Order: sequence, then C-alpha cells, then structure tokens
Amino acid sequence: MKIFNYSFLTGLSPLLLLTVLFLFQTNGLQSQKPYEGKIILAAFAHPDDEGTVAPILAKYIREGATVHLVIVTDGRFGTNDYHDHEAGETLVATRKEEMKCAAEKLGVVLHHLDYQDQLKSAEGYDGHVPHARKMIKELYDIIEDVKPDVLITWGPDGGSTHMDHRLVGASITQVFLTKDWGEKPKSLYYYGTPSNLIDDSESSILRGQASKYLRTKVSYTDEDFDKAFNSFKCHYSQIDPNMTKEDLRKWRDKNGMFVYLRKFEAPKADSDSVFD
Ligand SMILES: [Zn+2]
Repeated sequence: MKIFNYSFLTGLSPLLLLTVLFLFQTNGLQSQKPYEGKIILAAFAHPDDEGTVAPILAKYIREGATVHLVIVTDGRFGTNDYHDHEAGETLVATRKEEMKCAAEKLGVVLHHLDYQDQLKSAEGYDGHVPHARKMIKELYDIIEDVKPDVLITWGPDGGSTHMDHRLVGASITQVFLTKDWGEKPKSLYYYGTPSNLIDDSESSILRGQASKYLRTKVSYTDEDFDKAFNSFKCHYSQIDPNMTKEDLRKWRDKNGMFVYLRKFEAPKADSDSVFD
C-alpha cells in the first residue's frame, strides 16, 4: 500500500500563507485606487488617433478605471512617406493588427469599427451620409451598452482639421445630446490644444483654443508616457521606424506632461432671450 508523503505540503504552507497575504495586500491596494469602477469611453477616427490622449488613458487605467477605446475607421488610406504601403484592403488588415497591439499595450478594451477611412466622402452624398448615419447609431449602441461615466473625443478642430476627426467628435456629441443619459455618461470632454502653445498663427486659428475653455488639464507620469509610447509604436505602418521616445516627447513638448480637455457644459437654467 502506498503511503502518501505529505511533507511537500508542509513545505508549501508558508508559500501559501505568503500568497494569501499578497492577495490580501493587493486587494487592499486596489481598493485604494481612486477611480476603481469608473469607465471612460474614448472615441477617435483612425487607428493611432488615440495617441493624443494615450498618456492619460494609461494614467486612469493605473488609477483603477476601465477604458473603452472606439476607433471608427479602418485607416485604409493611411499611406505616408515612411513606408510604401498601398491604400486598400492589405493596409486595412495591417492596421487592424496594429490597433489590436496598441490596445493591448495600453490596456484598453478595443472597439475597432469597420467604417471606411474618409467615411466614403469620395462617393458623395449618397455614399457618405448613409455611412455616417450608421456610424452615429452604432456609437449610440456602444455607449448604451458600455455605460461609461465619461466620454472623450475630438473637438471641432479635430486636432488636425481632418474631416473624419471632426465628424467623429460631432457624432459623439450628437449621441451625448440626443437624450438625458443621467449619470452614464455624465460628462463629455474634447481634446484640445491651447492657442498660446501653438507657434504659427494659421495653426492657432485652425486648431488652437483659448485657455479659458481648456480648463481640464490632466497630468500624467513618466510611467504613463512609457506605456503610451510602447502602445504608439505598434502603429508601425504610420510612424517613422526610427522614432524614439524622445522624438515623441519633443512632439508633445509644448503641452508639457499634460493633456488639455474642454468639458462640454450644459446650460444651467432656461432662458427666454439670447442676450441673457
Ligand atoms: Zn486620424
């Protein structure tokens, strides 16, 4: 008859004890995270657009929030001087994988929709408008389903005046305005750049905003920036292959270690005059 040797359990028990203690401590730490249970939904047009706010998405994830990232288009026209990709289905497949990689590195829940880059604008009203309408309804359904506390998207400048950026921002705004959502989502924020941090006057008109509107200035850490950089590097087809962390830092340089946002503010009271 075989007698079991239980001595390994004796050896394991301090380890088990340590594990229990570790789990207990980890739970203790988690409960200290300030945004545990909170949900952010960030919506942008193209795979890589999320890079603009990625450091603060990393920050809020570190602080306990869950971040859902909606990328609306397939990026099929994302050709550039760094690579010789051709526009079309192969590039769509590449960017799908790149976006998946970027989302994993950042730690977000990804919703990569399959609307065409440039939202079929080349097909005129009958191509573009049904495509854009479908997108608004799908964004509505996602927000109903996810029930985020906060929405973040492009403002009217779209960062670069790109029509897809502006339309995604406007579509999220329309979804937000379409009914009283109560608490989920409670707030809508637009990414913005203070005019005084933009050197040339033309760019300042095209995408700058007065500081009095960009009142939400969210800081992030080096650790958050590293995470954002590692995520951004996944978009290999869109970047200079030699881009370093310092290059990216320089590119964001004027904003410092901050992301500026404009909160959508609803009227506080009814009125019967436009001159109130
Ligand atoms: Zn874009």
